[in-house]
Amino acid sequence: MNVAPDPKSIPQGTLLSLEANKAAALATATGVLTVDLDAIIANWRKLEKTAVPAECAAVVKADGYGCGAEQVARALASAGCKTFFVATLDEARVVRAAAPAAAIYVLGGFFQNTGDAYAKFDCKPVIGDLNELAEWDVFCRRSGWSGGAAIHIDTGMNRLGLTVTEAQGIIPRINAGDHGITLVMSHLASAEMLNNPANARQLAAFREIASLFAGVPASLANSSGIFLGAQFQFDLVRPGCALYGINPTPEADNPMLPVVELKARIVQIRNVERGDTVGYGGTWTARRPTRIAVVSAGYADGYFRAASANDGTRGAEVIVAGKRCPIAGRISMDLMAVDVTDLDKNAVRRGHWVTLMGEGITADELAHHFGTIGYEVLTSLGKRYARVYKGGSATADPPAPPPAEPGATTT
Ligand SMILES: *Cc1c(COP(=O)(O)O)cnc(C)c1O
Repeated sequence: MNVAPDPKSIPQGTLLSLEANKAAALATATGVLTVDLDAIIANWRKLEKTAVPAECAAVVKADGYGCGAEQVARALASAGCKTFFVATLDEARVVRAAAPAAAIYVLGGFFQNTGDAYAKFDCKPVIGDLNELAEWDVFCRRSGWSGGAAIHIDTGMNRLGLTVTEAQGIIPRINAGDHGITLVMSHLASAEMLNNPANARQLAAFREIASLFAGVPASLANSSGIFLGAQFQFDLVRPGCALYGINPTPEADNPMLPVVELKARIVQIRNVERGDTVGYGGTWTARRPTRIAVVSAGYADGYFRAASANDGTRGAEVIVAGKRCPIAGRISMDLMAVDVTDLDKNAVRRGHWVTLMGEGITADELAHHFGTIGYEVLTSLGKRYARVYKGGSATADPPAPPPAEPGATTT
């Protein structure tokens, strides 16, 4: 359910205002996910400043890391972002509609039968294999399409990309001109580890091969790579996670603003006697007379079962009435139990909202409890939440004042 409705989807003359539509959606929602587009824009601007003079692109794959690729791309395009990276052609279609003038690169690469879609959405494949390149060339020759492509070179990750030797093989083509290659890139495997020697090795390998791609813009850094220093930034940087508030420098404080807030509703409050257990398997025992708030979110909403609390192991915390409270027992599919004994009785009521992410609980903190990384926390965010978008109406430049009407007086 999306409560930031596409204006086109609201019938003309509808009786419900946007606000009323939103309120109606929230009334039935068990959870509300708020995405702060202004925070995403501020994060992008911060990365752009850090990387200047390199261009700052935006990676919006996996539905904008779970935040909504369409909304994120529209907001960032209006803030001045000119290049987007997605994983799939379906994602490219969404971003193309939101950012009509942007360059869009598709990281997942090219297959022969997808050429028409590349032309239709005017997006560029990130080519990481010589067979792919040959098929792309055939498509371009046959169709006359000249929308450009990136060459991905593997410098140590051993995932996608031409080997350095293969990349050397296409240098004559670059030198011959009219090659249709608009970007040469590689990807860092360990950029979030400042002192990992693999970073310097990948940098050296990329610098050497990229220098042979004369006149072709080069790109190496993801979010964390931007913070490894100017020598990693080349002509274009490709941040993803940092845009969405994940800490790109896990060994230091998070320089980014939080973006996602997630709330769920208390559906019931119950008293549990000392010695009673809570939840599936009875793995959590009340050590005192306990008040439990049962909250309407569970692992089917992307709140991982790994965050459960059992006797002897603390789980994650949620914020109830401004205070952190521990989870009690196992996370269920649609529900979780929270120990609210320490709160003032009147502060917690059925129907109140509790905060699962936000108010200081970060995606990175949840990732710690979920046994994963912030990326997976965000891309796992459930489909059942009502989604609310805040802000995002920025423009690249302040609009020029309207021309004065002839004869108009100024006051
Ligand atoms: C996902 C991805 C990025 C963005 O990485 P973050 O760590 O989220 O900033 C950049 N480049 C490539 C090739 C990617 O696959």
